[in-house]
Amino acid sequence: MVVTYHRPTRAIIHKKALSENIKNEIKRLPESVELFAVVKADGYGHGAVATAQIALSAGATGFCVATLDEAIELREAGITEPILVLSVVFPSYLSLVVDYDLSITVATKEWLIEAQEVLKDLAKTTTPIKIHIKADTGMGRIGFLTPDAVKEAVEIIEASPNLLWEGLFTHFATADEQDTSYWYKQTARFNAVIDALDHLPRYIHSSNSATALWHDKEMPGNMIRYGVGMYGLNPSGHELAETYPLKPAMELLSELIQVKELPAGEGVGYGKTYDTPKKEWIGTVPIGYADGWLRKMQGFSLLVEGEFCETIGRVCMDQLMIRLPREFKVGTKVTLIGKSKDQEITMQDVADHLGTIHYEVCCTLSERVPRIYQK
Ligand SMILES: *Cc1c(COP(=O)(O)O)cnc(C)c1O
Repeated sequence: MVVTYHRPTRAIIHKKALSENIKNEIKRLPESVELFAVVKADGYGHGAVATAQIALSAGATGFCVATLDEAIELREAGITEPILVLSVVFPSYLSLVVDYDLSITVATKEWLIEAQEVLKDLAKTTTPIKIHIKADTGMGRIGFLTPDAVKEAVEIIEASPNLLWEGLFTHFATADEQDTSYWYKQTARFNAVIDALDHLPRYIHSSNSATALWHDKEMPGNMIRYGVGMYGLNPSGHELAETYPLKPAMELLSELIQVKELPAGEGVGYGKTYDTPKKEWIGTVPIGYADGWLRKMQGFSLLVEGEFCETIGRVCMDQLMIRLPREFKVGTKVTLIGKSKDQEITMQDVADHLGTIHYEVCCTLSERVPRIYQK
């Protein structure tokens, strides 16, 4: 999809917010604990390369992504720090892992056996592939289920000259919840894995943002995988208070492209789901579901000069209409996410309207919307 620069709709990414969120987190970490910035899914919609570079200057020492291609994107952009792919990379792609010097996740014994077969044929494998073993302690997603299974994986890796055991990690399912019992259960299981091993790799890690924010005194490991907190969003939504103020990094802005006064009884939008009950000022905003501003956003109020204006009628693919309290000039700024005078719309407000989480809101914002970086 082409990025649409020649239209007033844009996502403003505040570099300072990203940088401060990282620095504030690093300040709280013990000296021995490193921060890897999680920049998967195009940096949660904030731009992977740009956020990675900001994170790097703020003190991050490595990166996590979800897929091989996301890792390659960072390397192609000149990032030389460790990059860990968090999800499974099929062994058939191992030559790329070697070429780009990546660290990858291993979750099953079958993968290791298949990888050894592939590596036999890869004559160029001079540097061993860096492996992080994933322990599934209760997320039920990927990983080895028992300490014995992890031990066996370590043995296979260490017996293979083409593989290097670089890390051991797990992932928490409920670190963002008030009820901590399941978090402790997973921690106990992860500690049991650690205890069962007679030596440990370079990196041990368990913490996503929520764990780092709310379980910092007791989280196992020497590295954290810091994601949503860097973007200034509270991982728990409304459930837990922020440990320190997180600064939202993204604003979503547009401008009015037409303003008109409709008489009473006029329809607005596809399906004519809105009829003007009286004479009304209607503004059109050039953003729609193709930009990731979903049809369910009908009824949500946007900010124009500090005043909330309801989205009336259906959200179209490229445009939507709002009811204005009075006439405004074409070109007046419209805030979809961010501050306008003394009012604010947060990513969380959008998520609440959609019945989802803010993670999904920033990831859904499409490539068509340009990301503009401000100091
Ligand atoms: C996405 C992800 C993270 C980051 O989670 P946040 O809640 O955004 O901090 C950490 N670890 C794994 C395995 C992930 O998939």
